[in-house]
Amino acid sequence: MKAHSGEVGVFVRIRPTANFAQDLIQCLPDGQVTQPLDTRKSHVSSWSFQLEGVLRDVSQEEFYTRVCRWVVLGALDGYNGTVMCFGQTGAGKTYTMTGSTESYKQRGIIPRALQEVFQEVEIRTEHAFNVYLSYLEIYNETLVDLLSSLQGSPRPSPHGMLVMEEPGRGVFVRGLSLHPVHSEEEALNLLFEGEMNRIIGSHALNRNSSRSHCIFTVHIEARSRTLTNAKYVTSKLNLVDLAGSERLGKTGSEGQMLKEAVYINRSLSFLEQAILALGDHRREHVPFRQSKLTHALKDSLGGNCNTVLVANICGEAAQIEETLSTLRFAGRMK
Ligand code: ADP
Ligand code: MG
Repeated sequence: MKAHSGEVGVFVRIRPTANFAQDLIQCLPDGQVTQPLDTRKSHVSSWSFQLEGVLRDVSQEEFYTRVCRWVVLGALDGYNGTVMCFGQTGAGKTYTMTGSTESYKQRGIIPRALQEVFQEVEIRTEHAFNVYLSYLEIYNETLVDLLSSLQGSPRPSPHGMLVMEEPGRGVFVRGLSLHPVHSEEEALNLLFEGEMNRIIGSHALNRNSSRSHCIFTVHIEARSRTLTNAKYVTSKLNLVDLAGSERLGKTGSEGQMLKEAVYINRSLSFLEQAILALGDHRREHVPFRQSKLTHALKDSLGGNCNTVLVANICGEAAQIEETLSTLRFAGRMK
């Protein structure tokens, strides 16, 4: 499945659960997710969202092949790409992005993308490739390098990390470590290291790891071996596990939880504004710099970039309000 150039492909993935709310949610084969016809009249407002595709009971492999593979291949051809998972905590974002560590079959988008990248590097002998990885966490607008504690890696700059732009270089994060990798195995070890740091860091600072955005980036440099004086073409593949989008409970949260929720809501709303502005060709100014998330992704969304947004939802009746809120977000992005 390929989205049209410059557009955002929006997909829904429904987490398999024991009690799928058939009377509340209906998925049509053309990518429509809607309220079942016979229940519509009993509700004040009916709803229906047309998306690129709705995936239910699909394996990790099928999900990768149908939704993400073209973005990965595009990055090898020199196009920046971004795949983002969005939705409430527990809906399956991390499962989709990273996968389950319990079985090889259940590995998610990131390990599959890494496998594909190194397979292609082997096949595409007419090009010389360099591959680097970085893993950035954004928590309450603070940038954290999930790979900085590795031996021998550059230490974050004493001034802290900063999203920057330079002509010719594009957008980059000053102080974020970039790690050269030469094989799938080396890359997977770094991913694992980053996942561990994400968990350890959240424990150490006493915060929930689902309250931050994580951007795993594969930086690719490709140079033709056949052309003389060929320059390196660089591209980025961003694989993003967004913070849980759930709203605060009615009882009212306070302190740290409230602060986290405010930051998350604001950054998701800025992400929406940026994507909507990209889709509106009359808009000259796209507000990327309003949040660290959109600023860091500035040259990887819209335009010549391949973008996929995955709305992860849980199909149970008890979650219907959060599910509708996720679907509304997804519907607006389309
Ligand atoms: P999130 O990152 O959105 O908070 P998780 O990815 O951690 O949610 O998923 C919550 C739980 O559901 C995990 O135990 C995960 O393994 C399981 N899960 C999520 N999606 C699927 C799926 N498609 N198939 C099987 N298990 C899933
Ligand atoms: Mg998660």
